[in-house]
Amino acid sequence: MLSYRHGFHAGNHADVLKHFVLIELLNYLGQKDTAYTYVDTHSGAGLYSLDTGYAMKNAEYETGIGPLWERDDVPAALQEYLNLVKGMNPSGKMRYYPGSPYCANEVMRSQDRLRLFELHPSEIKILSENFRKLEAHKAEQGERQTVRGKRIMINAGDGFEGLKAILPPPSRRGLVLIDPPYEVKDDYRRVKVCLEDALVRFPTGTYAVWYPVLSRIESKQLPERLKRIPANGWLNVTLSISGPTPDGFGLHSSGMFIINPPWTLEATLREVMPYLVRVLGKDVSAKFEIESGETETVRMKGPVR
Ligand code: SAM
Repeated sequence: MLSYRHGFHAGNHADVLKHFVLIELLNYLGQKDTAYTYVDTHSGAGLYSLDTGYAMKNAEYETGIGPLWERDDVPAALQEYLNLVKGMNPSGKMRYYPGSPYCANEVMRSQDRLRLFELHPSEIKILSENFRKLEAHKAEQGERQTVRGKRIMINAGDGFEGLKAILPPPSRRGLVLIDPPYEVKDDYRRVKVCLEDALVRFPTGTYAVWYPVLSRIESKQLPERLKRIPANGWLNVTLSISGPTPDGFGLHSSGMFIINPPWTLEATLREVMPYLVRVLGKDVSAKFEIESGETETVRMKGPVR
């Protein structure tokens, strides 16, 4: 069943959390000259239009990138994410939102490698076409020529399965983002199985799993199960922009679970997450949580904005 289209959700609060953390993880890997590999097991379309098509339907970007767009008090680490998104919108108007493959491509260097998987037949076409256009644009500007080819490989197929063949990466340095739609509950099981396998093949890799925080049992169990996978360490960060609605609809809360996180990440999150709660929070239930062995909950106090 492939009904999920990320375009409906592009730029929402969950994307802000995911893409901000992704950029932090890649920047950390980029501190050493040695090449690294980034694997996106569930890539989506790569770039989304915010003023046409799917994104217009529920305007979910208004819960995420929208409120951040005009802010002039953004913490430095988050500013880098914001600059990247703004770089996709040279007119200054918020029109395009970069998905994880585009965020990664912008941060990564010529020696690094992107390995992108996407199963949906329409999304993979759009992803390939988006990268073809990007390559042409970069070439026109005399920038890095090798956007695709050896540097970027786009694979039409199952990312959970495809990951097996590319781990460990040649330089033994890498990040894997696992970001399935979770429309079918088997995704929760597959995330765990995939990570257990990947950590045997590449134990020193960094793995980032995005997940929705929902009342369904599989969602509640996922981070607890991931904590039990043998690894050097883990960090779990969640962002809730409000409490659950009485009808139970809508996504108000999501998390990033990182296995083998860089030691710098927790301090950066402690600086940025209170800001995200303040700016994106909709009511007094807005909060973040960071766990890395010990749990801390920060609740928003006082009126919102
Ligand atoms: N990572 C993207 C981003 O942050 O911009 C968003 C990805 S979206 C949440 C999930 C994507 O996974 C969808 O485009 C869906 O078609 C795709 N998908 C679903 N099952 C898949 C599978 N087994 N392997 C690869 N892609 C899959």
